[in-house]
Amino acid sequence: MQEANHYRIFLSPPYQGGEELKYLTKALESNWLAPGGIYVKQFEEKLKEITNRKYCVALNSGTAAIHLALKVLGVSAGDYIICQTFSFVATANPIAYQGAFPIFIDSEKETWNMDPELLEEAIIDLRKSNIRPKAIIYTHIYGNPAKVDELINISEKYQIPIIEDAAEALGASINKRSIGQFGVVSILSFNGNKVITTSGGGALLTDDLYLSERALLLSNQARDEKKPYSHVEVGYNYRMSNISASLGMAQISHLGEWVNRKRRIFETYQKINARRTIFYWTEDKLGIYSNRWLSVFLIESMEKRDKIIEALRNMRIESRRLWQPLHLLAIFKGQKSYISGVANDLFTNGICLPSGVGLKNEEQDEIIQLIKSIN
Ligand SMILES: *Cc1c(COP(=O)(O)O)cnc(C)c1O
Repeated sequence: MQEANHYRIFLSPPYQGGEELKYLTKALESNWLAPGGIYVKQFEEKLKEITNRKYCVALNSGTAAIHLALKVLGVSAGDYIICQTFSFVATANPIAYQGAFPIFIDSEKETWNMDPELLEEAIIDLRKSNIRPKAIIYTHIYGNPAKVDELINISEKYQIPIIEDAAEALGASINKRSIGQFGVVSILSFNGNKVITTSGGGALLTDDLYLSERALLLSNQARDEKKPYSHVEVGYNYRMSNISASLGMAQISHLGEWVNRKRRIFETYQKINARRTIFYWTEDKLGIYSNRWLSVFLIESMEKRDKIIEALRNMRIESRRLWQPLHLLAIFKGQKSYISGVANDLFTNGICLPSGVGLKNEEQDEIIQLIKSIN
């Protein structure tokens, strides 16, 4: 593995819209360097507006948001949580924090997200062993909207609350309804590699006042303002800082513009092979709007995929394989899973190509020429 700074063109580096310093300066001048503060409130308002949610709690990571989502839904040690296997490890780690067990579900081929049919099969099968999962976590992987109607129907039919991991998908939508409103609790991430960054951060979204108040309390060491120092339960230090939120405010006004740019980058790669003999990808079906957080494709063979990664690396250009399915990780070995092979195929043949908002046209041309030169 090469050093990260070896690269000339990164996969998805942070991008600045130009107002970051202005906002940061104002935050510093206010001297509110602690968690909470005016920009945290403003950022929460913005996120509520974009996602059409009633409540938002800004946190210091997306992982913290998933952890609190499980906490507020009452997940405790020994519970079972259904989780999409084709996701980043942060989706499942908080299940382990709670001492609960993940049950991994494979993806469908169309959106690469949790397969609703397999989900229902799993729920029915688990009932035979008297296992009633406490929650379902699904992801919109690489910003591709999942089959939310089907997933939500199943969650309602079996009364298992659904957590939407929208960490990669801010700016994506389904029938003009923004991602982030399709979970009892939904979460966002503002890590450095995501569409919008606060240099590290996350948010929890919900329409349920009680859940939002619980999340806020737990994010702040369970400090009850009305009863100073009487921490009645174990809390966390998960609140977003005012400094981070000031960066978020500078970034968020560019969301639409940056998603457009990412979509154009994706479309340019797509043209490498219009006949689809080399590249396969997820399509935006009617009403579906992916944010194309990363430009991801399947290559006809693993050997060819590895050759492309190697050739790009030699030119100091970063590219990567797709996420390794979580049920294959040693840390989750032996956990229950319902597997059809789709996630494994994606892992075997997939590639993420440079997709940063700041990617120059000449740079993308160079990448495309390199890829075309490989047989
Ligand atoms: C980035 C990411 C997270 C975690 O977010 P952090 O802010 O990095 O903690 C969770 N789930 C998915 C799918 C992600 O890509």
